Amino acid sequence: MEQTADDRYLTKGVLFVLYHKSKPFTVFPAMSARPKPLMNAPVPPGNSAQPEPKRPTAPTLTILSPDSDEPRGALAATPPLPPTDSLLEELDRESQRLETASPKEILSWAVQRFAPKFTMATAFGPEGMTIIHMLAEVAPETPIFNLDTGYQFKETHELRERVKAKYGIEVEYKLPELTIEEYESANGGPVYKSNPNQCCFDRKLKVLHESAKGHHAWASAIRRDQSPDRAKAPIVGWDRKFQLVKISPLANWTKKDVWSLITAEDIPYNPLHDQGYPSVGCWPCTRAVLPGEDERSGRWSGFKKTECGLHSS
Ligand code: SF4
Repeated sequence: MEQTADDRYLTKGVLFVLYHKSKPFTVFPAMSARPKPLMNAPVPPGNSAQPEPKRPTAPTLTILSPDSDEPRGALAATPPLPPTDSLLEELDRESQRLETASPKEILSWAVQRFAPKFTMATAFGPEGMTIIHMLAEVAPETPIFNLDTGYQFKETHELRERVKAKYGIEVEYKLPELTIEEYESANGGPVYKSNPNQCCFDRKLKVLHESAKGHHAWASAIRRDQSPDRAKAPIVGWDRKFQLVKISPLANWTKKDVWSLITAEDIPYNPLHDQGYPSVGCWPCTRAVLPGEDERSGRWSGFKKTECGLHSS
């Protein structure tokens, strides 16, 4: 298999960097010193931080190398599940077989094959809500967690409570080491303004790596039609970044499929979706989108960044 930039980067035990053969590492190499402000980014009551029209010059990326030698994901499980040739062959075979299966059938297979070491991370997006709804039917005991960065909308926290009330499923919050007050104080202010890659790394990816440890497989809510990066996602495959099996039951679904199920089954969803926010992340990095804009254009608006790094390869 051809070695990708990500492979080279992982080999060096370096996470979440942009790889350039002979160029210096930069986070936003093409970004001007004055990216657009985060338009319409709402500010929770009591929070005085406001989106600013100016941002610092594109920062030089600090190379990040946490836990480079530590086993991750399924390799840290008991027993570990390493990506042997036979496992990869099995995943490939099952992925092809499940191409025509329904999302619920795919989840049922995943539960049978990997529970109790099967989990799911959710940001409570529409896709994730449909998976939670299906898991409530086929395996409500599946552990589900949410990366609570400290910057989530109150509507997102309220949705977690609605899930608990409707399904009896208590989504576990996974928290970064530092509160946002401690984090901003240690960094001289909000890091999302100057270096969102660093902020996502510290408050999402590090927590996610820690949370994935000990599991063999997890469900992802990505759809292939969301982005060119996601278009290549298999139904079942080995997640090299997090080192565990990744199952994407909605890979073949469209946005219309997702919303049809939400409507038909009265699945709870984030009310911000009705206010122009097709994709909801942290409040400082999310804005409403305009008619005709891409559904993820409201995320990290003003930066050359469209993914937090969870699903990019
Ligand atoms: S989405 Fe924004 S606030 Fe949330 S972790 Fe990433 S940079 Fe920080």
